[in-house]
Amino acid sequence: MSYVGDCNSCGQCCSGFIFIEGKLIETRCENLIVAEPIGRPQATLCAVHSKRTLGMPIRMFLENGSSYQSRCLATYPRPQDAIPPECSYTWQGTDKQPKWSIGYAPSLGNLVSEIY
Ligand code: SF4
Ligand code: SF4
Repeated sequence: MSYVGDCNSCGQCCSGFIFIEGKLIETRCENLIVAEPIGRPQATLCAVHSKRTLGMPIRMFLENGSSYQSRCLATYPRPQDAIPPECSYTWQGTDKQPKWSIGYAPSLGNLVSEIY
């Protein structure tokens, strides 16, 4: 176990940014209920939290209403994942912690890696 702690429901890992025509566009999982600005503790809820599974198909929506298929990374953060500054998990691995960036995308997950 490299990350320890509890999720504060900030919603950062259920949303993200993708580059479209040179612009960063926000994208959110269809199941993400947003009560406060994403990034604040307790800002969000997952509508299917008790039923979500690793790799479960989800749709990610952009502000303009368009969407694309992705997959839920229900076990985030894994040891190979980077985490955003707002994430409440802390790194306790012996290796170097994976580095976060705004365009970060895990190899499987909701931060845009599988666009069909
Ligand atoms: S289904 Fe997965 S990606 Fe979507 S809000 Fe729930 S935990 Fe986040
Ligand atoms: S980024 Fe971290 S604290 Fe925020 S919702 Fe994801 S796992 Fe929870």
